[in-house]
Amino acid sequence: MLKPKARFEKITDITTKFLKENNIKAVILDVDNTLINLDKEPLENIENWVEELKKEKIKICIASNSIKKKKVGKVAEMLNVPYIYFSTKPLKRGLKKAVNILQEKEENIAEIGDQLFTDVIGANRMKMFSILTTPISGEKTKLGAIKRKIEKIFLEKQKKN
Ligand SMILES: [Mg+2]
Repeated sequence: MLKPKARFEKITDITTKFLKENNIKAVILDVDNTLINLDKEPLENIENWVEELKKEKIKICIASNSIKKKKVGKVAEMLNVPYIYFSTKPLKRGLKKAVNILQEKEENIAEIGDQLFTDVIGANRMKMFSILTTPISGEKTKLGAIKRKIEKIFLEKQKKN
């Protein structure tokens, strides 16, 4: 459940070739620390990356756990893709909504995000292709820092296996 199918440093490192080789026809994107940093600055080249996917007919939907509709909506508008906010990952509710928008089978959908406990578990529960990216910027809150530490322990264990 905790193991991502693939790991990348940043979302823009994921090539359309890689997605196609893994039969991915659609992607669900996390927002915070995946598309934008904590100062709401978009990741470098993210617009080009999205354009590349669109060109290759790979569908895109944003699913963010953020309750800030305006913030998520702004990112979606910048990239011109549909979005779901307050998506309650790792619960299935929001991801099911995304599947409904994308109209692809779960096995052909990659869920891309920076958090094991929301993005990766959510994707794995839905039998989607989970891709973990490194957070753009470190969490500033204390709780976030603790979460990161726990994630690190899990990821280091997986490396050994
Ligand atoms: Mg995130």
